[in-house]
Amino acid sequence: MALPGRAQVVVIGGGVVGCSVAYHLAQRGVTDVAVIEQRKLTHGSTWHAAGLIGQLRGTASLTGLIRASVATYAGLEARTGYATGWRAAGSLRVAASEERWTELRRMAALGTSFGLEVSLLSPGDAKELFPLLNDSGLHGAVYLPSDGYADPSQLTQSLAAGARAAGVRIIQDCRVQGFAGGNGQLDNGRGGSAREDNGRITAVLTERGPVECETVVNATGMWGAATARMAGAGIAVTAVEHQYVVTERRPDISPDLPTLRDPDARVYLKPEGGALVVGGWEQGTRAPWKEIPADFGPELFPPDHERFAPLAEATANRIPAFGELGIQSWINGPIPFTPDGEPLIGRADEAANLFHCCGFSAGIAGAGGAGAAVANWVADGDPGLDLAGLDPRRFGPRYRAPDLLAKSAVDAYGSYYSLSDPEGRR
Ligand SMILES: Cc1cc2nc3c(=O)[nH]c(=O)nc-3n(C[C@H](O)[C@H](O)[C@H](O)COP(=O)(O)OP(=O)(O)OC[C@H]3O[C@@H](n4cnc5c(N)ncnc54)[C@H](O)[C@@H]3O)c2cc1C
Repeated sequence: MALPGRAQVVVIGGGVVGCSVAYHLAQRGVTDVAVIEQRKLTHGSTWHAAGLIGQLRGTASLTGLIRASVATYAGLEARTGYATGWRAAGSLRVAASEERWTELRRMAALGTSFGLEVSLLSPGDAKELFPLLNDSGLHGAVYLPSDGYADPSQLTQSLAAGARAAGVRIIQDCRVQGFAGGNGQLDNGRGGSAREDNGRITAVLTERGPVECETVVNATGMWGAATARMAGAGIAVTAVEHQYVVTERRPDISPDLPTLRDPDARVYLKPEGGALVVGGWEQGTRAPWKEIPADFGPELFPPDHERFAPLAEATANRIPAFGELGIQSWINGPIPFTPDGEPLIGRADEAANLFHCCGFSAGIAGAGGAGAAVANWVADGDPGLDLAGLDPRRFGPRYRAPDLLAKSAVDAYGSYYSLSDPEGRR
């Protein structure tokens, strides 16, 4: 599609988050929108995500965000005519220790107070829902019938289709290289900032020319910090390696199995086409880059068998069938990570009309709600959700230094399923 010379809102990044922002803007009647993607839609982190969507989080705002995602995904296919792979198969989270069971009961109470339907199950009841489960040593489980999973690429294309149908322009193979400020002075990262030009971005500068605009949304995932820097802004996001495997098929792996999380074993599972997808949050993952390469796209890293081995062993203990099945495919991809593992959503200090919406470690789960929030913010001046805890400004310049950023992201990744303290965020 030809690059428009002007759009009311420019969304940079055509992953699940950028497409969701565009879709929701269109739903709100803001249709003069251009999504600019440097490659093809989904060619960042989105295409290789596992697609689990779990709403039970430790804070009202994160839970609210993902609840809004589920509300969007549930009706999306009917609205756009494009499949999403969304299946409300439910989710189980099991407790293999007394401390975890206490945590799960607390989370269940919190989830109920947020309006979610949450049940506490005995190990036997959990096994009934997930017959492949070895329930020995379990203290109980939490079940959320409204959780589920989606196909990340289909979901993104469906959001894009809904946005396009309302008039949003989606431009692919076009890299954003900088911004122009109020007086037309260019800022392409070689000094100066939008702030010097009265604090507003007036045009997004792409390799195919400028697009004048009123509002810019930075939805560039793990490239979020590089995009921010073009506007003289600083945010703390990098990428770390994350892996999952897809097993061979087995007749008793039904698509209606709930997703399963065993946080004590650090693993998660979902059914996929008669096979199991198994991933996890191990200690000591790798932060491969100090600076995310601009030319990195849909590529993957080679499998890291050694890092996956403890997760595989723990899974085989909890799901004995896993130990009997061969591995059909292996995904090791970059996942955006911030120092606390949660996304960056909010206005940039440095440019009054720039919103950041990036750094999602669970962007398939979060995109629906985040897109709706940013669209509300643009349309009404208010996101309609309490996003204070996700404000990009929670990390000062110290956290943007590449070494500390990499270390804190690796640590946050390794503690993704750690027991939270009662005042904790998860
Ligand atoms: C192995 C693995 C499993 C995962 N499993 C899950 C899961 O089960 N559930 C879940 O919720 N999440 C999961 N994730 C995380 C999920 O993939 C990400 O959170 C999500 O894809 C982020 O979406 P995004 O749109 O923010 O980023 P991206 O998909 O990376 O999109 C950003 C886009 O911006 C574009 N871009 C960057 N810079 C520019 C520029 N200058 N100009 C133009 N375009 C630009 C990029 O090309 C890219 O397409 C997983 C991740 C991995 C690696």
